Amino acid sequence: DSAPASPLLHNLNPEQLAAVTLPAGHALILAGAGSGKTRVLTTRIAWLLQTGQASPGGILAVTFTNKAAKEMVARLSAMLPVNVRGMWIGTFHGLCNRLLRAHHKLAGLPSTFQILDTQDQLSAVKRLCKQHGVDEERFPPKQLVWFIAGCKEEGMRPQDVPVRDQDTQKKVEIYQLYEQQCQREGVVDFGELMLRSYELLRDNDPVRAHYQRRFSHILVDEFQDTNRLQYAWLKQLAGDTEDGRLATHGSVIAVGDDDQSIYAFRGARVGNMQDFVREFGVKQTIKLEENYRSFSNILDCANALIAHNQGRLGKNLRTQQGPGEPVRIYEAATDLNEAQWLVDEIKSLVKNGEIERREIAVLYRSNAQSRVIESQLFNAGVPYRVYGGLRFFERAEIKHALAYLRLLENPHDDTSFMRVVNFPPRGIGARTLEQLQDAAREAGCSLHDAVSTLSGRAGANLTAFVARIDVLREGTQGANLRSIIGQVLEASGLVEHYRNDKEGADRLENLDELINAAESFVTQEGFGRDAVALPLDEQRAAPPLTQSPASQGLDASLPMAEAGELIDQDTGETLSPLAAFLTHAALEAGDNQAQAGQDAVQLMTVHASKGLEFDCVFIGGLEEGLFPHENAMSDHQGLEEERRLMYVAITRARKRLYISHSQTRLLHGQTRYNVRSRFFDELPEGALKWLTPQRSGFGSFAPFPGAARGYFTPAGGGFGHKSEVFASPPVPERKGGAAHGLRPGMAVFHNKFGEGKVLAIEGAGDDARAQVNFPRHGTKWLALAVAKLTVVE
Ligand code: ATP
Ligand code: MG
Repeated sequence: DSAPASPLLHNLNPEQLAAVTLPAGHALILAGAGSGKTRVLTTRIAWLLQTGQASPGGILAVTFTNKAAKEMVARLSAMLPVNVRGMWIGTFHGLCNRLLRAHHKLAGLPSTFQILDTQDQLSAVKRLCKQHGVDEERFPPKQLVWFIAGCKEEGMRPQDVPVRDQDTQKKVEIYQLYEQQCQREGVVDFGELMLRSYELLRDNDPVRAHYQRRFSHILVDEFQDTNRLQYAWLKQLAGDTEDGRLATHGSVIAVGDDDQSIYAFRGARVGNMQDFVREFGVKQTIKLEENYRSFSNILDCANALIAHNQGRLGKNLRTQQGPGEPVRIYEAATDLNEAQWLVDEIKSLVKNGEIERREIAVLYRSNAQSRVIESQLFNAGVPYRVYGGLRFFERAEIKHALAYLRLLENPHDDTSFMRVVNFPPRGIGARTLEQLQDAAREAGCSLHDAVSTLSGRAGANLTAFVARIDVLREGTQGANLRSIIGQVLEASGLVEHYRNDKEGADRLENLDELINAAESFVTQEGFGRDAVALPLDEQRAAPPLTQSPASQGLDASLPMAEAGELIDQDTGETLSPLAAFLTHAALEAGDNQAQAGQDAVQLMTVHASKGLEFDCVFIGGLEEGLFPHENAMSDHQGLEEERRLMYVAITRARKRLYISHSQTRLLHGQTRYNVRSRFFDELPEGALKWLTPQRSGFGSFAPFPGAARGYFTPAGGGFGHKSEVFASPPVPERKGGAAHGLRPGMAVFHNKFGEGKVLAIEGAGDDARAQVNFPRHGTKWLALAVAKLTVVE
């Protein structure tokens, strides 16, 4: 085939083709789940590059998760030979971080600024509340964090917040103090990344003009879940307003599905879609109506369910695939039964060779549901993987290690200082720390700088701590990342501390894993590699920079496009590998950690499943109060968002879909007696197959012990009642690993180390240990009561 563009455009339907090859200009692609939105976006980027309409440096693409960004980059590199590293493809947070790194001075940030994750942010607010005597009963720190995040999402600094009452007044004061504290410490939270880079663009004409010219093509996936600030940020990049309309240089393609808007609770605004059409003068709205993901029984369920929502933008989904399997519905007596059924079903699907384990997803509304499912999978020896549990970078020992590393980069990071000043314990008490904080506040300096003002034994201990960090900083100059982390782990005393800790073995392994993570980060990001010059034709394709002022350092021709790295636009300095790694750790912590290629069942919340697809999907816990969630049931909007969530869940499935509910459920230490979810009544009977006898309406339960004792009283006709919650005698939990059934020679699977071979077994019962050789991690002794080992068939 001689036409260069054609292979890319194969396998697109006419609407998709039109979307991929739209002439420059703004456009909205509004389409339902599985209609190829993400595929269109990726193909368009490839097409723009291949036809020479854009250079890699001229493209900015926003995705919802780091994982999605990585996937997009991977697909692009598979489609055509281009320097993808130069492209700005990432999440809003990731891209904002790039902008702020490049222009930190203009943004009023130190070059070494660090990112606070949600945990750090909470502890920073708590620290501030203590210092300023804030009544934590009246102003719970968690709520303050929400308040601050909410203000930032609306683009409001403290002075912009409308103050209507005393409580708000107080919260605004705390917001202001918090800002000052962050500024002093050189740290930014996620909301600040966004707001600060928005302000950077808004307030600096040359910078804004530079990026407006540079990014001739802006593409946004999952547009329905953008918030007000993100939309405003996009507008800054797209062009300046004239007469209420944007006079823009390039084109913005927004892709979304109003039916999949599931982040309203975090400020997402579906209204951005209508605003976009109006403010950008969008003439092209493309609808994609062919679904390529699911068989029609599954699609019929999705369509019928979502039809119960009002005020939709309106679109249809059809598929040319046949009906496929019916959607199977199961009613369990208890959550334990539900999990047992689910595991049996999974085992037989895998055994029959129908479906690979990694193609099976178990989705739930709330994280608390996963425990019982996990323990059943574990007992049955089915490898599984939980997305978005306690993520690696959020574990305590990792956060301790990162805090030391951050202090090397920035001694004024008080959050990190407080985290490790007395960890491992070195005799620095709470009183001393209070004194130190007071001194720092009086002097208006960081804790690090206030240390010299304290005298006596307390002062000596603190001075020793600070000296230890300073010596480490000196001693690791010029060292590679691996050796820096190694030295820090030893010199901080963390390794010794966990070695002496009876339960420290796991933590030591995690610290080892931190070194591995750094190693693979260095390889992936290409630190230490020779810089590669761009091929000439790519340089020529770069958009001309007509009026960029040299004073801003913006005239070097697209330095960031070439390095694909975080470069200070004032000095040309790049981030140290350590600083880059710390940033990566902070940004990655808020995201799923998916390990591709591992053949394990995938467990995740419905929220986390957005954009993904699986051959087989189980959705559990379809009970009033759980799904729809009780917090959302009281108002119409909340209920509609729950329905969209269910729509997202259903549309993840390609071939098989199971939906289940349980009459009773142990949640937060209480047994709930449940009414089955109203969503069942919104599904088309013809697409369903009931695996258990179908009961009509609610309140007709199979007998269970609580009912026999009269615990349950139906609260009246119709739906919309919360599930009744009763205290109940604790249900004994099944303990994994009592009879482990392992023998030398068996192949086993470990969540962290992967597959390995059992070499020896020692001890019995709770003390049983196995020696296992893992090809990638070496030989380890594992306590079977603790280690999650499963037998591989
Ligand atoms: P979601 O709303 O869930 O994010 P989406 O609209 O982004 O879905 P994609 O993930 O891009 O949809 O596509 C869904 C599936 O359909 C993918 O497996 C994709 O490869 C496939 N697909 C899309 N378009 C076509 C096509 N024209 N021919 C064959 N397969 C297609
Ligand atoms: Mg998508």
